[in-house]
Amino acid sequence: SSKEHGGDHYTVFDAGMRVLTQRRMEMELALRQAMESGEITVHYQPIVSLATGDVTGLEALARWQHPRQGFIPPSEFIPIAEESGLINELGALILRQSCRRLVELGRENPEGEKLSVSVNISGRQFKRPDFVQEVAGILAETGIDASRVKLELTESVLMDDADEAVRAIKNLKALGVKVVIDDFGTGYSSLSYIQRFPFDSLKVDRSFVGNMNEAEQNMEIVRAIIAMAHKLGLEVVAEGVELAEHKAALSELRCESAQGFFFSRAVPGEELGELMRRNWKPDPGPTVS
Ligand code: C2E
Ligand code: MG
Ligand code: MG
Ligand code: MG
Repeated sequence: SSKEHGGDHYTVFDAGMRVLTQRRMEMELALRQAMESGEITVHYQPIVSLATGDVTGLEALARWQHPRQGFIPPSEFIPIAEESGLINELGALILRQSCRRLVELGRENPEGEKLSVSVNISGRQFKRPDFVQEVAGILAETGIDASRVKLELTESVLMDDADEAVRAIKNLKALGVKVVIDDFGTGYSSLSYIQRFPFDSLKVDRSFVGNMNEAEQNMEIVRAIIAMAHKLGLEVVAEGVELAEHKAALSELRCESAQGFFFSRAVPGEELGELMRRNWKPDPGPTVS
């Protein structure tokens, strides 16, 4: 209390801290309950091959539909999960649910067997000593072919202890999963730094893709990222493709795949069968008569 600490300064500080702590504890409790009651689900956004127009993969995105507060975006609850440590359980839940759904999809439709699933992994989750073991457990439990699973890591995860990160990525790859660098360009790492890590592919952040046609500078950044990624042997996925112009420009830059509202938003697992029946064939080009 303020008396024990002595002085009015602490009274204000304590009151502020109490409110913050209480709000966080409420959110934590709500999140824990949401995880137990099934309010947290996974939605899937298609990743489309620019060469064929086929859906080749799905990104798993966590969704929280709160019975009273409605939709709570991951940008709000993922940080709370990170700070509280709930992310380990939440991350495992998302990975398990995604792998299960993909295995089912393969049973429903032979085309579904070819699809990969990309799952976001938070820093705290990745840094846990038993993370690799946990992934191995979920692969075994769900029976998914490991080569269909892609784990998305952001640059910030790699910064504190690069050697440890390299080791963990190698161990993950030894399980057969693919490892992807997400939101590339938003962190502080250069492509030469990224080269140290054995990634399979790179996702260009949507902040560059979103206005590449309006801002010449962004177009050049995307062009440079794609060219250098290819030199390093990485396939490129562009995120945030909202317009036909984005798609056309990316095809021209030889970007392999794209993801964004132009194709589809993330859909609930039940709608995946229907989603797979769609495709986005590239423009046929001028017809010769
Ligand atoms: P992210 O991994 O970069 O995921 C892509 C985000 O961009 C998703 O937002 C997606 O809905 C959004 N997006 C896709 N296409 C477009 C587009 O054309 N335009 C615009 N404006 N946005 C687009 P979402 O689902 O709100 O997720 C935000 C972030 O939250 C994700 O960014 C990821 O960092 C994190 N996240 C989501 N699910 C999980 C999860 O299960 N685990 C962890 N650790 N993080 C997650
Ligand atoms: Mg991602
Ligand atoms: Mg991303
Ligand atoms: Mg992003």
